[in-house]
Amino acid sequence: MVIPLFPKLQLFDHILFHLLNVLLLVEWEVRNHIPSGTVLKALSSGGENGPWMKFMRAEITIEDFLQEFRKLCSEISKTDMSVDFFSFLLTNEQVVKQFPVMTETITQIRAKGLQTALLSNNFFLPNGKSFLPLDRKQFDVVVESCLEGICKPDPRIYKLCLERLGRKPSECILLEDLGPNLKAAASLGIHTIKVNDPETAVKELKTLLGFTLRTVVPNTRPVRKTMEIPKDSLEKYLRDLLGIQTTGPLELLQFDHGQSNPTYYIKLANQQMVLRKKPPGTLLPSAHAVEREFRIMKALKNAGVPVPKVLDLCEDSRIVGTPFYVMEYCSGLTYKDPSLPGLKPSQRQAIYTAMNRVLCKIHSVDLKATGLEDYGKHGDYITRQVQTWIKQYRATETSTIPAMERLIEWLPLHLPSQQRTTVVHGDFRLDNLLFHPETNEVLAVLDWELSTLGDPLADVAYSCLAHYLPSSFPIQPGLGDCDLTKLGIPTAEEYFRMYCLHMGIPPTENWNFYMAFSFFRVAAILQGVYKRSLTGQASSATAEQSGKLTEFMSNLAWDFAVKEGFRVFKEMPPTRPLTRSHHTWARPQFPPRTLGRRSYVTSTDSSPAHASKGALVFSPEGLSPPVWEVYQRLKQFIERHVYPAEPELQSHQASAERWTPSPLVEDLKEKAKAEGLWNLFLPIETDPERKYGAGLTNVEYAHLCELMGTSLYAPEIFNCSAPDTGNMEVLVRYGTEEQKARWLTPLLEGKARSCFAMTEPQVASSDATNIESSIREEDGFYVINGHKWWISGILDPRCQLCVFMGKTDPHAPRHQQQSVLLVPMDTPGIKIIRPLTVYGLEDAPGGHGEVLFEKVRVPKENMVLGPGRGFEIAQGRLGPGRIHHCMRLIGCSERALALMKARAKSRVAFGKPLVEQGTLLADIAQSRVEIEQARLLVLKAAHVMDVAGNKAAALDIAMIKMVAPSMASRVIDRAIQAFGAAGLSNDFPLAQFFAGARALRFADGPDEVHRAAVAKMELKHGL
Ligand SMILES: Cc1cc2nc3c(=O)[nH]c(=O)nc-3n(C[C@H](O)[C@H](O)[C@H](O)COP(=O)(O)OP(=O)(O)OC[C@H]3O[C@@H](n4cnc5c(N)ncnc54)[C@H](O)[C@@H]3O)c2cc1C
Repeated sequence: MVIPLFPKLQLFDHILFHLLNVLLLVEWEVRNHIPSGTVLKALSSGGENGPWMKFMRAEITIEDFLQEFRKLCSEISKTDMSVDFFSFLLTNEQVVKQFPVMTETITQIRAKGLQTALLSNNFFLPNGKSFLPLDRKQFDVVVESCLEGICKPDPRIYKLCLERLGRKPSECILLEDLGPNLKAAASLGIHTIKVNDPETAVKELKTLLGFTLRTVVPNTRPVRKTMEIPKDSLEKYLRDLLGIQTTGPLELLQFDHGQSNPTYYIKLANQQMVLRKKPPGTLLPSAHAVEREFRIMKALKNAGVPVPKVLDLCEDSRIVGTPFYVMEYCSGLTYKDPSLPGLKPSQRQAIYTAMNRVLCKIHSVDLKATGLEDYGKHGDYITRQVQTWIKQYRATETSTIPAMERLIEWLPLHLPSQQRTTVVHGDFRLDNLLFHPETNEVLAVLDWELSTLGDPLADVAYSCLAHYLPSSFPIQPGLGDCDLTKLGIPTAEEYFRMYCLHMGIPPTENWNFYMAFSFFRVAAILQGVYKRSLTGQASSATAEQSGKLTEFMSNLAWDFAVKEGFRVFKEMPPTRPLTRSHHTWARPQFPPRTLGRRSYVTSTDSSPAHASKGALVFSPEGLSPPVWEVYQRLKQFIERHVYPAEPELQSHQASAERWTPSPLVEDLKEKAKAEGLWNLFLPIETDPERKYGAGLTNVEYAHLCELMGTSLYAPEIFNCSAPDTGNMEVLVRYGTEEQKARWLTPLLEGKARSCFAMTEPQVASSDATNIESSIREEDGFYVINGHKWWISGILDPRCQLCVFMGKTDPHAPRHQQQSVLLVPMDTPGIKIIRPLTVYGLEDAPGGHGEVLFEKVRVPKENMVLGPGRGFEIAQGRLGPGRIHHCMRLIGCSERALALMKARAKSRVAFGKPLVEQGTLLADIAQSRVEIEQARLLVLKAAHVMDVAGNKAAALDIAMIKMVAPSMASRVIDRAIQAFGAAGLSNDFPLAQFFAGARALRFADGPDEVHRAAVAKMELKHGL
């Protein structure tokens, strides 16, 4: 028998029943008047080559063995001996029953996460099966001599066993009764224990391993000094209660768990019980209510829920100092580690299924029939819980934890609309359950201290917390880094689904909310522990650790809040048209318009079939209800969070830290994500299954994008900023699954940023076919050499991907020379020469870089679409991605005009407000008209893209690119003029707006190129 020390495994040999055999043999010798020791002598006769060893190595049959053995015994005993009874002894299962102490030891060892192995010298039976009258499931590895053709003490058999266990000799302990076998193992470096008597051997093993192996009552220990209870009065009470007449001492142990309500194991006259009492001292009236525990367990037992049978509630404090109750003791297995080490995948699956089923049973209890209707309040459980835990957290808060702040704001706003009321356990987790060691059924659900009436989904979510914690988590090991499929454990999603299925309820869509709430609750509890540890006697290291855990848990909670935000947004009903129409129309106004800036109504269409995408909606109020709702939330978000942040963001851009992203932006990004205001840009056309984005039409997004355009900082906050949007679209449209996993996911999550590298200083880059940078194939790689500039975003430390355009084949047809490669930014050979400025503005932290690419080696699989497809990709990339600039420019112009109007109303010159000066009035009117014209054209282009595709919209796209940047430059310029010198300063966003709009007369392709395109198409069309 071998037991590894750490990471612990155990190897048993035949010892489990071997000793019993020997005893029986001795008895048989006496009964048959055969000299004592005859059989053992015969067995060892001939050593390695004796009949017994040959038989064990399956070199001879049982008949041959018995024949030789009989001969040997007869020679030794000097009588003619029959060995028939011996063969019966060897194989009779009654005779070779496993020692109970060994069974228990194996169970204990495996419960601690150790492996066990059986290394057995055995033989084949006449039926051809190997003889091993044991439950093989007890062992991770079984090595049988007759199968391997090797016997102990041959070192090879030990080595084989170690190899199968994947352990070193020093990690193992062997339990064995035969000296030569022990010696051989020890010579290999295996720890050994000589077994003369199983009980003593187990004791020795316990010392070596450092934990209890023979606990009569698992998870108990002697009663703590401070927790002692008067035995005499308790014994008298129990004798009266149970009518026990027999004498005998009362055994009392304390359970490890039950820190809140001390829990004791009692044995009296062979009756095993558990006593649970309130802790001593002054208590809050509602706390430690053992009376409630007694009540619920009694009711649930009657309803068929597996709970220990309660025997009596004693509210008389004279017996043990406080009220208590007594229940029957249930023996079974508790699993502390949720990965259930040492068990088979099928067993794990069975355990988690049983756990799920029992939870369903608890939640299906008929409140009326069980008399539990008044066990708690009905309805709004989560609402009350959220408030309770916010209050608790506030009461113990020690410093600001950003995720907790966000959750405190988020949770009350996202409460589930429907909450059922059932019995809830309140602390439902694996280690509060007792399992049957063989059937894996739940024998009892323990610890009902936090039970009440409430929303059952809170229990389901709570029981999945371990799924998201790392296995090394200090409070309890988790499953976060485990391969659940391999282990046979259902994922949290599967567990939720399984629950819904058993309960016969629709799938729980907002389970991310419940997970967020559960982690928030745990974070609030941990904060309480932290606070107490700061004021109490806990060491500073412990205090610090629980403080960190609060933050860790709150971040996990926030991750779920973010996921829920995404889900809510994605759940919004799609409004995609069934067929494309090329005419322009708009839906009736939704909702009736009373407020707002733009109040015009567009044409109407009463057909509900048209209440869908493809509509040319001129004003936001005409958007379908869900998109209108997003529009309003986006507007509110920008007004509440983005405009007020602008001064701080601007000063960050002027500070020495400007090349590091502002933490405020990151914070606002998290907020926006949680609100579902995230990745709104990907058109439904590109992402029809709405796998990646919000699935809006270009027209719908145009209205939202316009809002984002009112602040230079807004697009990034909603993960809708260039150049990432264009690059993400490239990846969605053309990327392989691997490319998507590597680049698209972090970009969509806002964890990474990217840049697009096309323009080169040495060539006129408005003509993409001029691009010269070379992409050469070399040793299975692509090697890039080139000089680029104006590469926006490349200086951002978060920039992980450069979408690079270069020439793969200078001899191919003009539009097939270019290719697009995905270049990781940490590839050696990328040298940023300098940041360029636009009117002196650096646009940090992304900037616009001049960059050298020198011998940059990129794996071949980073090519997008294939060599020579660059032009095609660039065209695709410049579709929707580029009209976003125009959409934003409308918003930017609107804000400039609004600022201009406010300023002109508030300043007086030459005796009257500026707004009354004729020229300003003309400027305001001119700006309004130009904005409206441009907006209509932008919306039209978006609409044509929606209904006829990007290609058909080429003329409209070229027109808006021609119109929008110059319109915005003019409107902003007028606003600057109205502001006076202040308009040029950084005190207002106008100067930056102007620089941006002016730059877009190049950045999006020079005006002239768009004009040429429009003219070309116009002429072609006219002919
Ligand atoms: C703020 C900013 C950010 C940018 N970001 C990026 C980026 O991230 N990645 C990237 O690759 N590039 C970027 N660019 C570069 C931008 O795409 C190029 O500036 C643009 O394509 C023009 O190329 P060019 O500068 O080489 O001008 P050129 O091609 O040299 O053109 C110069 C001028 O020639 C005239 N001209 C050109 N073609 C025609 C024509 N057909 N008819 C009549 N006149 C014509 C126009 O007046 C034009 O302005 C950015 C530029 C700016 C200003």
